[in-house]
Amino acid sequence: MNSSRLLGGASALAAIALLGACTGSPSAAPDTGKTQVVAAIYPYEWLAEQIGGDRVTVEGLLPPGGEAHDLELTPQQVADVTIKGDLILYESHFQAAVDSAVGQGVHGTALDVRTLVQNLDTTESPDGHDTETPTDAHDAAADPHLWLDPTALVTVADAVRDKLTAIDPAGADTYRANTDTVTAALTAVDAEYKAGLASCDRTGFVTSHEAFGYLAQRYGLQQISIRGLDATVEPTAARIAEVQDMAKREGITTIFYETAVSPAVSQAIARDAGLRTDVLDPIEARPTDTARGADYLGVMRANLQSLRTANGCR
Ligand SMILES: [Zn+2]
Repeated sequence: MNSSRLLGGASALAAIALLGACTGSPSAAPDTGKTQVVAAIYPYEWLAEQIGGDRVTVEGLLPPGGEAHDLELTPQQVADVTIKGDLILYESHFQAAVDSAVGQGVHGTALDVRTLVQNLDTTESPDGHDTETPTDAHDAAADPHLWLDPTALVTVADAVRDKLTAIDPAGADTYRANTDTVTAALTAVDAEYKAGLASCDRTGFVTSHEAFGYLAQRYGLQQISIRGLDATVEPTAARIAEVQDMAKREGITTIFYETAVSPAVSQAIARDAGLRTDVLDPIEARPTDTARGADYLGVMRANLQSLRTANGCR
């Protein structure tokens, strides 16, 4: 064995230890001293910003207005997940590219949001058009869209607070206070949904993809989705015919579409049946049309208004 190589190795280790000591955090990433959070989709990006405040920098992997399900990562983004990020917020079995990056091993802490909330069977619709019933929390068919239930996001907020506190104990008071604030805001939105959807002419609503199962379950609505859980899989002609039949049977007034997916099918169904179209945003990406809500809370409120109008709520 060569002693000069040993010495070189020891010096490098000392240099890394020194670097770690200088940043004052467990992270060896060259940074601003702030905790680096990398979030796979916008709701978790927003949550980390609310809770981390000035003590964190948050990088979202999904571009504003982007489509979450078939997200592809650049080599730089993969490195941000594996090397740069102190905390990675993602959901397993949702975005294959993110699963793959996390699977390479991460320098920081990866928080799989899916493990925090019981994955519900949200796939039942009024025609009994069920997809596979998920049997465990890691079932690939389980519904990932839990952020559309604001009370589920409260559970995620608590976990983000705890992870940030473990990484940066000096920020504990800040993280606790900010989590209390965001929890109050989410709880207020939940109360608005409950009150706003309590007295309506109908409970059914037609969505572009099956993103609103958690929301429907919490507020007693019936989701009729043109596409399945994955927004990128186009519907069959048979499914479109089923949706048309159900829309007629349920007295649907509005066919919802979303901005990240082509509205062509939604528009065609609406045109054939003489119905309106409107946006119902699954809030997977940061909003680009800020007139319809500038952040998670704003878009949730815009969605509530769209549902109330469509369903004749008083
Ligand atoms: Zn989706």
